[in-house]
Amino acid sequence: MIIFGTRASLQKTEYLTDNCPNCNTSGSIQMNVFQQYGHIFWIPTVPTGKIGVSQCANCKQILKLKQMPDPIKLGYENLKTYTKIPLWTYSGLLIIGLAIAGFTFADKQKKTRVNKMIYSLKKDDILEVKLKGDIYTLLKVDHVSGNLVYVAMNKYQSNSETNMDELKSKGYDTSTIQEFPVSQLINNDKIEILDIDRN
Ligand SMILES: [Zn+2]
Repeated sequence: MIIFGTRASLQKTEYLTDNCPNCNTSGSIQMNVFQQYGHIFWIPTVPTGKIGVSQCANCKQILKLKQMPDPIKLGYENLKTYTKIPLWTYSGLLIIGLAIAGFTFADKQKKTRVNKMIYSLKKDDILEVKLKGDIYTLLKVDHVSGNLVYVAMNKYQSNSETNMDELKSKGYDTSTIQEFPVSQLINNDKIEILDIDRN
């Protein structure tokens, strides 16, 4: 479950010169500007709007923006104009961006590794493959002879890449060893090699 919502953080506070509309004390109104932001799992992700709340230091009356008389509202607008959006309210976006960059990098590294290993496959290497129709399974290298790779297919298939690990504990169909030229394993629209595991 993803937990998200909005929160507010006090950014600027200042005493106005105006009189309190309630007790008429001069200079007792403290104006507060809050920055609202959306959070995901309490990590600030995106700034939304600003809100203003005033409090009289004398009579303690609290006014929300809607309740403020015009001169006090003006005090809020002034204070708001020089209250910048703090960068930390974008933290979540930064984390999401870094995560995407990290995954992309890991994926590139994996592809580079697969492209290297495919030319030097060894007995018992496990090939994680995607077959036509989004079917995922494993191929186990039985032996290699020159440019030919002989593989046994896992007895099970999965329709999700995330379930591939479960297939590792299942058996392989060693009664029908299939032969592939290495070149065909690389350029093949029927089999895409996602990863190679070697113990
Ligand atoms: Zn007051």
